[in-house]
Parts: sequence; structure tokens; C-alpha cells
Amino acid sequence: MTRRDSFKLLEATGLALVLPQPLLLFAQKNNSMAHTEFEVIIIGGSYAGLSTALTLGRSRRKTLLIDAGQPCNQQTPHSHNFLTQDGMTPKDIADVAKSQVAKYPSVHFYNGFANSAKRSQEKFEITTSNGEIFIAKKLVLATGIKDLMPTITGFNECWGISVVHCPYCHGYEIRNKNTAIIANGEHAFHLAALVINLTSKVTIITANKDQFNEHQLKILKQNNIRIIEKDVSAIRHQNGQLKSLIFKDATSEDFDCAYASIPFELHSNIAASLGCEFTEHGHIKVNPMQKTTVEGVFACGDNSSPMRSVANAVQGGNFTGAVINNELSKESF
Ligand SMILES: Cc1cc2nc3c(=O)[nH]c(=O)nc-3n(C[C@H](O)[C@H](O)[C@H](O)COP(=O)(O)OP(=O)(O)OC[C@H]3O[C@@H](n4cnc5c(N)ncnc54)[C@H](O)[C@@H]3O)c2cc1C
Repeated sequence: MTRRDSFKLLEATGLALVLPQPLLLFAQKNNSMAHTEFEVIIIGGSYAGLSTALTLGRSRRKTLLIDAGQPCNQQTPHSHNFLTQDGMTPKDIADVAKSQVAKYPSVHFYNGFANSAKRSQEKFEITTSNGEIFIAKKLVLATGIKDLMPTITGFNECWGISVVHCPYCHGYEIRNKNTAIIANGEHAFHLAALVINLTSKVTIITANKDQFNEHQLKILKQNNIRIIEKDVSAIRHQNGQLKSLIFKDATSEDFDCAYASIPFELHSNIAASLGCEFTEHGHIKVNPMQKTTVEGVFACGDNSSPMRSVANAVQGGNFTGAVINNELSKESF
């Protein structure tokens, strides 16, 4: 079925009138998936992947964007600190981006999960969980990261709502609140220095014995920052709004919100199976050109950067698209 046919079908079924414009463009694009060979395949179609696709689409590169639709920020009610989109929902930002990328005819969309990747004769062969196989000269991993929720009851429900990871993303909205920092040592000290400018009511919850040196303890004291050497077992909350932290010794303390950083893993072992190297923190190793340690494989966004933000993902994707287009241009010129 051609794209025109599928659009006619949508019109005939009345769906064209019902679907909002970005989804309509999507439906057209997905129904037009006739080819399996591309110049570039991007795995991950959130901010980093869409940004890469925009640059490649504008360069008329035949590109496939494979996305499972599980961005890490989907639970947060509003996304902040991305110019022009401050305070929008994560989904609204992505929907606008998708509708803009969908206007470029060389970009194709596939909704699904890329299960595996292998190199085959200077190209990459990607297999989806439905068994479809797609081939491309260059591969972009824009797959983000998967946050691993701790075994604290209620943590998951509060994540991105009242338990947050980043003062730049959410700190302004929780300014002047009674705030807990669930962390220890250098990381807690660093966060406290940032957060104290947003609220004067800061308590550090260290789980075990605090790991601050004399100098740090003095500064924390000067700023009236309390330290509680207790381990959190549960969060009492109402619809994700933190009310109090319950500790393992069965005592509790009231707070309005908390900062926490939690471990993560990648969504799949594609990078590892291709032979990509990783940093000591578990990110895919990239050079300043967003190239991984495997020729032809690029990575951008959260999976390869500790600076976790929509703006950073968009920047990384934009740059990756330009680097790839430059390589493809040189290879064929
Ligand atoms: C709770 C929370 C709140 C946040 N709030 C803010 C904020 O207010 N402001 C801000 O700037 N930043 C915020 N961030 C950070 C921001 O969301 C991330 O930096 C950004 O989403 C990273 O974009 P990305 O494209 O790299 O990854 P993601 O947005 O996580 O997207 C990765 C995409 O790849 C897909 N994918 C992964 N593997 C595969 C595969 N094998 N096959 C197919 N698809 C795959 C996933 O399904 C997903 O759609 C927040 C993060 C969290 C966790």
C-alpha cells in the first residue's frame, strides 16, 4: 500500500478527521514502511533519537527510527529547563517533535523494540522483537537509560513527582519546601550546595554513618543542614506527593519532597553485543563526535552522558545527525 493509499484509507474510514495532526502524520508514515534497507537506523525515538532524525531528514538521508515508546521521564507531570518548552508535559514535547520530524519524507518510523543488532558486511542488521529485520550503514543508539527503583515502598509512585533527581529540572517548583536529600558523602554535599539556594529547609538522609569530612560537616552546619543517619524503608505519600519518610527503625519524619539518585541499566544489550565499551559509571563510551568505540555506531542522549536533560539529549542528537551526514557525504562524494 502506498502512502497515498493509506492516507485515502484513513480519510475513507473517517480516522483522518478524528486523529490529531501529529498522530495522523505518524499513521501515514507507519503505513508507508515498505523498505528494509536504510542509510541510518536510530534505535530510540525520544528526544535524542528524534533530534538525530530531524537533522538526517533535513539532509534527505533515508532513516529509520525504531522506538518502543518508554521514555524515562514519562511519569513526571511537567518538564522544565528546555528553552521554548518549559513546563510542558514530556509527551507534549515529544509529540511536537514527532510531528515536525514526520514532515521529512526520508524519515520512517517503526513502533516496536529492537531486540538485537549485528554487523553484516559493513552494514548493521537490526532485528525487532516481532522478527522484522532492518539494515543500515550507520547505527545510532539513542536508547536512554532505565532507572532501577530501590526497594523503598512508595518510591516508584513518587519518582519524578515529589522525589526527583535533578535541581535544574524540578528544583524551582519545589523551592522553599521541606526537602530531604537521600544520599551520602560527596554526592550529597554537592546536591546540598545546589539545593540550599532553592530552599533553606534541607536535611540529608545518609542511610548509614555519614561520609562527610570535617570541612564538609562545618559547612553543612553553617547552612543549618541536618543529617539523619537512617535508612529509608518507605515513603508515605498521596498520589505521588511525599508526606513523610519512614525509616527502618520504624521512626518517621515529615517532608514535602526529596532528591535521590538511583542506579540504572541500559534497555537492551545491543551496545554490549556490538562490542561498544562503557564508562566506569555504565554509560556507553563516546568521543566528542558521539562515536562509540565501534566504527559506524554512534550514541547520544542519556545512554552516553551523565548530564541528564532534554536539552542535552536534543543537542547530542542534533550533533550526531550532522556527524553522520558528514560521513555519508564524504563516503559517497
Ligand atoms: C523522572 C524524570 C524527570 C525528568 N525531568 C526532566 C525535566 O524536567 N527536564 C529535563 O530537561 N530533563 C528531565 N529529565 C531527564 C530527561 O527526561 C532525559 O535526559 C531525556 O529523556 C533523555 O532523552 P533520551 O532520548 O536520551 O532518552 P529517553 O527519553 O529515556 O528515551 C529513550 C527511548 O528509547 C527507547 N528504546 C530504548 N531501547 C530501545 C530498543 N532496544 N528498541 C526500541 N526503542 C528503545 C525507549 O522506549 C524510549 O522511548 C527527567 C528524567 C526523569 C527520569
